[in-house]
Amino acid sequence: MARTKFIVVMGSIMSGLGKGILSSSIARLLKKRGYKVLPFKFDGYLNVDCGTMNPFRHGEVFVLDDGSEVDMDFGTYERFLNQSLTGKSSITGGKIFKKVIEKERRGDYLGRDVQFVPHLTDEIKCWVKCVAEEEKADIVLIEVGGTVGDLENGYFIEAMRQLGHELGKDLLFIQLTFVPTLGKGELKTKPTQHANRLIQSMGIRPEIVICRGDEPLTKESKEKISLYCNVPLENVLDDPFVQTVYQLPEMLEKQNLYEVLANRLELRKDAVEESDWEKLVGRIIKPNVELRVGVVGKYTSVSDAYVSIKEALVHSGAVVGAHVRMDFVESTDIEEKGVKELEKYDAIIVPGGFGKRGTEGKIKAIQHCRENGVPYLGLCLGMQLMVVEYARNACGLKGANSTEMEKDTPHPVIDILPEQVSIIEKGATMRLGAYPCILKEGTKAFELYGEKNISERHRHRYEVNPNYAGKLEEGGLIISGLSPKNSIVEMCEWKDGFGVGTQAHPELKSRLEAPAPLFVGLLKAALKRKKKD
Ligand code: GLN
Repeated sequence: MARTKFIVVMGSIMSGLGKGILSSSIARLLKKRGYKVLPFKFDGYLNVDCGTMNPFRHGEVFVLDDGSEVDMDFGTYERFLNQSLTGKSSITGGKIFKKVIEKERRGDYLGRDVQFVPHLTDEIKCWVKCVAEEEKADIVLIEVGGTVGDLENGYFIEAMRQLGHELGKDLLFIQLTFVPTLGKGELKTKPTQHANRLIQSMGIRPEIVICRGDEPLTKESKEKISLYCNVPLENVLDDPFVQTVYQLPEMLEKQNLYEVLANRLELRKDAVEESDWEKLVGRIIKPNVELRVGVVGKYTSVSDAYVSIKEALVHSGAVVGAHVRMDFVESTDIEEKGVKELEKYDAIIVPGGFGKRGTEGKIKAIQHCRENGVPYLGLCLGMQLMVVEYARNACGLKGANSTEMEKDTPHPVIDILPEQVSIIEKGATMRLGAYPCILKEGTKAFELYGEKNISERHRHRYEVNPNYAGKLEEGGLIISGLSPKNSIVEMCEWKDGFGVGTQAHPELKSRLEAPAPLFVGLLKAALKRKKKD
């Protein structure tokens, strides 16, 4: 394709409408036609990245191969595109202001007063255009975080207005909106009309309006939106409720969204990509069996904190034909009430986490799994606590712990990584991103991955203390994966039953078309055990 095309998605009226899922679905429709799609996410907050944000407030911190800590929407893009992204796709207020202020300090602005327009907006446009060129993108898909009218994202929207002015027909705006229902099925389009006017007052005319709501749009409401928002009727679309988010690309396609985009941006119409996507979606919608998985952690009132685990269970569920019902179990409850609550689960996961609170409950849950043959998967902290449990209860190392939880433990089986000792700053300083791991032949991990050399994403400061690795192995713990460079224990497992721990976060790379092997292994083991009962 000759020139790169740009699509900008903006949310109106309120947050939480699913801009990320909509943008990812559009990206998927484009990829299906063989286009190289490059997603961008703009986030107005002044944090440089998501690494310092509490997942309890903001949702999961997603980690990319290059170690960038980004918004959880990146997980959605990667899962829908089956493609790994880089941190360059994430532009935050913090990053862009930092750039401008650094330039100012260097004297790059030659005595000028530094302003939002043109300096900040130029920086945003330049970033997007440069990365698009570097990546040789056919189509750039930009999601503007937040809601139109927010103070935070105003400069991003202004930058997009300018970009639209520069690019003319090669850029298109999409408005995502909310159409509420009042009383019995009466759809209200007025908020959308007002929001659309607000966007137009910023010098932007959205060409497609996509509507979320409790009810599907009626012909009447579509006509109203078309008339008041200045768009053809066929450019007003429903963003319907779906059983699984992976259905959305097809739902949009059925409403001819791709046709509209193709006509407007002069794109090819034939699908070229071969994929099992539809078949897999079919398996999600019509599962053969239900499995219950308990995720023992904290932050349990915010399910977004564990969104990649939830999705990895959907992907692996599609492989084994199971619907996975995932329940959050507050680990402090186990400390108070014991493990009885866990008996109903077919498998248990202890996810990543930080700090002492709830760890003893997690350790009890792991012990329950090991002693009762319940399939267990430990992710990062979940692996570290699996080692602590094993050290205490199987190797007789009384009082063993991680030094993150107890500085003066008699047996520091988990300890801080040597290179982390002197680090004080919190932002982007953990062991982050993709690291290789060599799996030991004959282990469950090796069998599941089907190869020796693997790579998974990381986000941690602590590791299995190398001085204890020998003792743990003598006690019967299998160390199934090591990092090639400095022999960090990357994976371990129990001899009996299914119990695997990984220092990495394999959930971050799980995709519908490429499910995480350890999750598939967990569900297969859960299914086998369920059939026996
Ligand atoms: N707190 C542990 C560490 O820093 C585990 C981190 C995690 O689970 N992501 O090593």
